[in-house]
Amino acid sequence: MPKWSMESWLVHGGRPPVEPGQPINQPIEPASTYYAGAEPEYARDGTHGMQALEEAMGPLEGGEAVAFASGMAAAGAIIDLLPMGAVVVAARFTYTGVSVRLRELNDIGRIALRLVDIADTEAVIAAAAGADAIWVESPTNPMLEIADIPAIRAGASGLLVVDSTFATPLGQRPLEMGADVVLHSATKSIGGHSDGLMGIAVTADADRAAALRFRRTILGGAPGALECYLILRGLRTLSVRYERSQASALVLAERLREHAAVERVRYPGLKDDPGYERMRRLMSGPGTMLSIEVAGGAEGAERVARSTDLWVHATSLGGVESLIERRRRWPLESAEVPENLLRLSVGIESVEDLWQDLAAALANV
Ligand SMILES: *Cc1c(COP(=O)(O)O)cnc(C)c1O
Repeated sequence: MPKWSMESWLVHGGRPPVEPGQPINQPIEPASTYYAGAEPEYARDGTHGMQALEEAMGPLEGGEAVAFASGMAAAGAIIDLLPMGAVVVAARFTYTGVSVRLRELNDIGRIALRLVDIADTEAVIAAAAGADAIWVESPTNPMLEIADIPAIRAGASGLLVVDSTFATPLGQRPLEMGADVVLHSATKSIGGHSDGLMGIAVTADADRAAALRFRRTILGGAPGALECYLILRGLRTLSVRYERSQASALVLAERLREHAAVERVRYPGLKDDPGYERMRRLMSGPGTMLSIEVAGGAEGAERVARSTDLWVHATSLGGVESLIERRRRWPLESAEVPENLLRLSVGIESVEDLWQDLAAALANV
């Protein structure tokens, strides 16, 4: 990548060697084992498909990438690196699955968890005194808070992990801001087509990358051959998808703010959003995700989510199709997330169609 921009590397990174007769795309290689005598030997340790995806991803974040079967498999491997009894500082609004796992480990004494408001840098730094790890998510899912990653790094020691799923490598570069490990649920924007699960951890420390790779082997978190192909294929178009979705998200956020049925819009691209200043300083743009709180409480929000035609009522995010869901329909979602909050993942459809469909659904509350 040194020579090229990220947009070009997205298209060209991780391809087979440039030799006549070689395919230009890494083929799907359905093999659990290989003829002995050379690497790879066994698929759980790594395959050519994983290597291609890792080669493409690493330079985008400025480190060495390790691919996992899902974002949660990557998160689990990172957490598994922590010593027994490790003190872990984490955002109050951390992705549900990660929150649940951290709380489980806290309850059995494996770690000691300290929950913080991730946007309150002073509180994070205070809680991080003597901590072994700080688990940052920014922007947070689904509250869209922005963490001041460089300030947290400056004020706190300990392993700094940043879940950068919402931002993608195009939105922010956590390793450059001092993070030790950056995590992506590549299931989301990186894959971009809602057709495969994948997690990616990136670190600039070769020993840590090797340790993560070994966790993958030992915990069995290796991604499958088809998934490696699909997610790398999705990565090729990340920049065009991300830019279009981000532009539409801003248009929708501004219109939603004026809508009578919308009580609050959470989007760091709005000038009066609490995360706006940090987004301008730390990110290339506000991203493709927004949350709204609608009139009529949980019932009103459910009605909106169920009455769209174009927006798909489904969980997950980052795909070409726009998705809408009420987060609190999940029993494990934090009780601090408002009941009437709808999370919107903006896809690449016509923004006018998206607006028309959403406005029609909002007319029901
Ligand atoms: C979805 C998600 C995860 C988990 O990833 P999976 O691929 O679903 O396992 C982790 N963090 C964030 C922010 C997510 O949105």
